[in-house]
Amino acid sequence: MNVKSKNNNTTVNHPGLMTNYKNFPMVPRVIFGAGCFVQLGEILMPKRIHSEAPFIFLVDDVFEGSELVSRIPLIFNDQIIFISADEEPKTDQVDVLINKIKNDFAELPSGIIGIGGGTLLDLAKAVAIMLTNRGNAYEYQGWDLVKKPSIYHVGIPTISGTGAEVSRTTVLLGPEKKLGINSDYTTFDQVLMDPDLTQGVPKEQWFYTGMDCFIHCIESLNGTFLNAFSQSYGEKSLELCKEVYLGDLTEDDARNKLMMASWHGGMSIAYSQVGVAHAMSYGLSYLLGVRHGIGNCLVFQHLEEFYPEGVELFNEMKQKHNIQLPKGICSGLTNNDFDIMINVALGLVPLWENALGSEWRNIITPEKLKSIYQKI
Ligand code: NAD
Ligand code: ZN
Repeated sequence: MNVKSKNNNTTVNHPGLMTNYKNFPMVPRVIFGAGCFVQLGEILMPKRIHSEAPFIFLVDDVFEGSELVSRIPLIFNDQIIFISADEEPKTDQVDVLINKIKNDFAELPSGIIGIGGGTLLDLAKAVAIMLTNRGNAYEYQGWDLVKKPSIYHVGIPTISGTGAEVSRTTVLLGPEKKLGINSDYTTFDQVLMDPDLTQGVPKEQWFYTGMDCFIHCIESLNGTFLNAFSQSYGEKSLELCKEVYLGDLTEDDARNKLMMASWHGGMSIAYSQVGVAHAMSYGLSYLLGVRHGIGNCLVFQHLEEFYPEGVELFNEMKQKHNIQLPKGICSGLTNNDFDIMINVALGLVPLWENALGSEWRNIITPEKLKSIYQKI
């Protein structure tokens, strides 16, 4: 009875009002747990279209020759393609993969499986989309430009933090911009989260990619777009990040919890936005090829003015794990270089609106951004 009267009130409070809330796709199936990679074969089996339609595994080349690769459940004409994550994914790299797959097989694959970090997960999403959509990948960078459903695709993270396993975007460096293919068809059909797969991650990389998650939380929770949906995921993710980076967990526990922090962090920004660190980090990435995790850290350390508590926590975590961030990244840059980075950053309007509100242009000027970049 209470519920009913509450609902009635809601309608009465917003009579005939048009709303435009996003109707957000989520990963429909997820398996979580140490060792669950052995179940991949049984998960894929019902999704196999027929014996001529292979599963294509896009695998981070850090695993080439490893025990993990020997456990990939290959049958019929399934194929593994090793890909380096030394550089972040590019639109023409996606186009090359599409040509290769179309040349190698007469039929569309049964599915694409990405095994690796954000780089491989994003490539798998983009390839799954471009197998059914015409043209080049760069034509789809933006929001809701994808016309046809992608083929079945599975994400298997081997490092935790980006939230790429849950998001509806795949971030690609194109000829003109670094921008995601944001669409309802981007989201994975299946995610397999086996914390054991993250065991070999080097400490520095563990910190940088984990801090991507931490920064997602801080930017979401301190943004003007915040709402109960984002807050609920953001708070949980932040709590897990604190446990992992400041607490006293066993290694097993830390791996499990960071994997769930990444998931929740990704869910949090799905319904809000990131903020200052991400906007500026995109500039660094575009001009200098600085990778996402470390780029966010390089910027975030200088953002105490915007995120005082977040930066204090960040410094504590950095100290506890004895991480030295590189210095002098922007020291040799020309004025023109700074302008390029500033333009990329300022172009990310929704991020600034989230961070600082609709009047953000009064707070953030090119000079202001230059002064922060110069500290990096
Ligand atoms: P990554 O995929 O770039 O990998 C980082 C490094 O870790 C690589 O050298 C890789 O080989 C190594 N690595 C990964 N797993 C390992 C393991 N188990 N053992 C040893 N080494 C391992 O790292 P990332 O930080 O996860 O991803 C960054 C990318 O994610 C960027 O391209 C960024 O744009 C993208 N991203 C996407 C989203 C999204 O929503 N789609 C969100 C954030 C970031
Ligand atoms: Zn990020």
